[in-house]
Amino acid sequence: MPEFTPDFLAAQLRAASVKVTRPRLRVLACLSRAASALTHGELEERLAEGEGGGLDRVTLYRVLDSLLECGLAERTLDARGVYRFLLSSIRAAHAAHAHFHCQRCGGITCLEQMVAPVATLPTGFVARQVEIEVRGLCVNCSPVGGAAR
Ligand SMILES: [Zn+2]
Ligand SMILES: [Zn+2]
Repeated sequence: MPEFTPDFLAAQLRAASVKVTRPRLRVLACLSRAASALTHGELEERLAEGEGGGLDRVTLYRVLDSLLECGLAERTLDARGVYRFLLSSIRAAHAAHAHFHCQRCGGITCLEQMVAPVATLPTGFVARQVEIEVRGLCVNCSPVGGAAR
Protein backbone atom coordinates (compact mmCIF):
# COMPACT_ATOMS: atom_id res chain seq x y z
CA MET A 1 0.00 0.00 0.00
CA PRO A 2 1.48 3.41 -0.92
CA GLU A 3 2.01 6.01 1.79
CA PHE A 4 -0.52 8.77 1.39
CA THR A 5 1.35 11.87 2.50
CA PRO A 6 -0.01 15.28 1.36
CA ASP A 7 2.98 15.55 -1.01
CA PHE A 8 2.24 12.13 -2.48
CA LEU A 9 -1.44 13.03 -3.00
CA ALA A 10 -0.52 16.37 -4.61
CA ALA A 11 1.91 14.54 -6.93
CA GLN A 12 -0.87 12.12 -7.87
CA LEU A 13 -3.14 15.03 -8.82
CA ARG A 14 -0.37 16.60 -10.92
CA ALA A 15 0.41 13.27 -12.58
CA ALA A 16 -3.31 13.00 -13.50
CA SER A 17 -3.18 16.56 -14.95
CA VAL A 18 -5.62 17.84 -12.34
CA LYS A 19 -5.05 21.14 -10.59
CA VAL A 20 -4.01 20.71 -6.96
CA THR A 21 -6.67 22.39 -4.82
CA ARG A 22 -7.27 22.21 -1.09
CA PRO A 23 -10.71 20.56 -1.37
CA ARG A 24 -9.30 17.90 -3.72
CA LEU A 25 -6.39 17.20 -1.37
CA ARG A 26 -8.75 16.97 1.59
CA VAL A 27 -11.08 14.52 -0.15
CA LEU A 28 -8.12 12.41 -1.34
CA ALA A 29 -6.64 12.40 2.17
CA CYS A 30 -10.01 11.40 3.61
CA LEU A 31 -10.37 8.54 1.10
CA SER A 32 -6.78 7.42 1.71
CA ARG A 33 -7.46 7.02 5.45
CA ALA A 34 -10.71 5.10 5.01
CA ALA A 35 -10.69 1.39 5.78
CA SER A 36 -13.35 0.79 3.13
CA ALA A 37 -15.15 2.69 0.38
CA LEU A 38 -17.15 5.68 1.69
CA THR A 39 -20.57 6.96 0.72
CA HIS A 40 -21.09 10.63 -0.11
CA GLY A 41 -22.68 11.10 3.31
CA GLU A 42 -19.81 9.42 5.17
CA LEU A 43 -17.30 11.58 3.31
CA GLU A 44 -19.28 14.68 4.22
CA GLU A 45 -19.28 13.69 7.90
CA ARG A 46 -15.57 12.91 8.02
CA LEU A 47 -14.64 16.13 6.26
CA ALA A 48 -16.81 18.09 8.70
CA GLU A 49 -14.93 16.53 11.62
CA GLY A 50 -11.54 17.20 10.06
CA GLU A 51 -9.31 20.24 10.14
CA GLY A 52 -10.74 23.08 8.05
CA GLY A 53 -14.36 22.03 8.52
CA GLY A 54 -16.87 20.56 6.09
CA LEU A 55 -17.11 21.07 2.36
CA ASP A 56 -20.44 22.12 1.00
CA ARG A 57 -22.35 19.46 -0.89
CA VAL A 58 -21.87 21.01 -4.35
CA THR A 59 -18.10 21.37 -3.87
CA LEU A 60 -17.87 17.77 -2.70
CA TYR A 61 -19.80 16.58 -5.77
CA ARG A 62 -17.51 18.55 -8.08
CA VAL A 63 -14.37 17.27 -6.35
CA LEU A 64 -15.58 13.67 -6.57
CA ASP A 65 -16.50 14.13 -10.23
CA SER A 66 -13.04 15.43 -11.07
CA LEU A 67 -11.36 12.61 -9.13
CA LEU A 68 -13.50 10.00 -10.89
CA GLU A 69 -12.86 11.59 -14.27
CA CYS A 70 -9.06 11.60 -13.89
CA GLY A 71 -9.09 8.03 -12.59
CA LEU A 72 -7.69 8.70 -9.11
CA ALA A 73 -10.94 7.63 -7.48
CA GLU A 74 -13.53 5.03 -8.36
CA ARG A 75 -17.06 4.41 -7.25
CA THR A 76 -18.96 1.20 -6.75
CA LEU A 77 -22.57 0.44 -5.90
CA ASP A 78 -22.92 -1.28 -2.56
CA ALA A 79 -25.46 -3.99 -1.69
CA ARG A 80 -28.05 -1.31 -0.87
CA GLY A 81 -27.59 0.51 -4.18
CA VAL A 82 -25.62 3.41 -2.66
CA TYR A 83 -22.51 4.74 -4.37
CA ARG A 84 -19.27 4.28 -2.43
CA PHE A 85 -16.06 6.08 -3.32
CA LEU A 86 -12.51 4.82 -2.96
CA LEU A 87 -9.03 5.56 -4.24
CA SER A 88 -8.05 3.60 -7.35
CA SER A 89 -4.67 2.77 -5.79
CA ILE A 90 -6.40 1.26 -2.77
CA ARG A 91 -8.77 -0.61 -5.05
CA ALA A 92 -5.77 -2.06 -6.91
CA ALA A 93 -4.32 -3.29 -3.61
CA HIS A 94 -7.68 -4.89 -2.77
CA ALA A 95 -8.04 -6.50 -6.22
CA ALA A 96 -5.86 -9.43 -5.14
CA HIS A 97 -8.39 -10.79 -2.65
CA ALA A 98 -12.13 -11.38 -2.24
CA HIS A 99 -14.58 -9.18 -0.34
CA PHE A 100 -17.64 -9.79 1.75
CA HIS A 101 -20.56 -7.40 1.25
CA CYS A 102 -23.11 -7.35 4.04
CA GLN A 103 -26.60 -7.07 2.60
CA ARG A 104 -28.03 -5.57 5.77
CA CYS A 105 -25.55 -2.89 6.93
CA GLY A 106 -23.77 -2.47 3.57
CA GLY A 107 -20.38 -3.05 5.21
CA ILE A 108 -17.48 -4.45 3.19
CA THR A 109 -14.89 -6.76 4.74
CA CYS A 110 -11.61 -7.91 3.15
CA LEU A 111 -11.29 -11.68 2.79
CA GLU A 112 -7.53 -11.66 2.40
CA GLN A 113 -7.26 -15.44 2.65
CA MET A 114 -9.47 -15.78 -0.47
CA VAL A 115 -7.14 -15.02 -3.34
CA ALA A 116 -8.54 -13.87 -6.68
CA PRO A 117 -7.91 -16.44 -9.44
CA VAL A 118 -6.15 -15.59 -12.68
CA ALA A 119 -8.76 -15.06 -15.41
CA THR A 120 -8.69 -17.66 -18.19
CA LEU A 121 -10.15 -15.98 -21.26
CA PRO A 122 -10.84 -16.86 -24.90
CA THR A 123 -8.41 -15.40 -27.44
CA GLY A 124 -8.91 -11.70 -28.01
CA PHE A 125 -10.51 -10.98 -24.64
CA VAL A 126 -8.81 -8.56 -22.29
CA ALA A 127 -9.43 -8.72 -18.54
CA ARG A 128 -9.48 -5.36 -16.79
CA GLN A 129 -10.74 -6.40 -13.43
CA VAL A 130 -11.50 -9.61 -11.58
CA GLU A 131 -13.60 -9.31 -8.48
CA ILE A 132 -14.75 -11.95 -6.06
CA GLU A 133 -17.61 -10.85 -3.94
CA VAL A 134 -19.41 -12.83 -1.29
CA ARG A 135 -22.79 -11.45 -0.25
CA GLY A 136 -24.62 -12.21 2.95
CA LEU A 137 -24.78 -11.04 6.55
CA CYS A 138 -21.73 -9.88 8.52
CA VAL A 139 -20.95 -10.92 12.09
CA ASN A 140 -22.85 -7.92 13.49
CA CYS A 141 -25.95 -8.54 11.38
CA SER A 142 -26.35 -12.32 11.36
CA PRO A 143 -28.11 -14.03 14.30
CA VAL A 144 -25.39 -16.72 14.27
CA GLY A 145 -22.63 -14.11 14.42
CA GLY A 146 -24.25 -12.34 17.35
CA ALA A 147 -24.46 -15.59 19.33
CA ALA A 148 -20.85 -16.48 18.54
CA ARG A 149 -19.42 -13.31 20.09
ZN1 LIG B 1 -23.75 -6.19 8.48
ZN1 LIG C 1 -9.76 -5.78 0.55
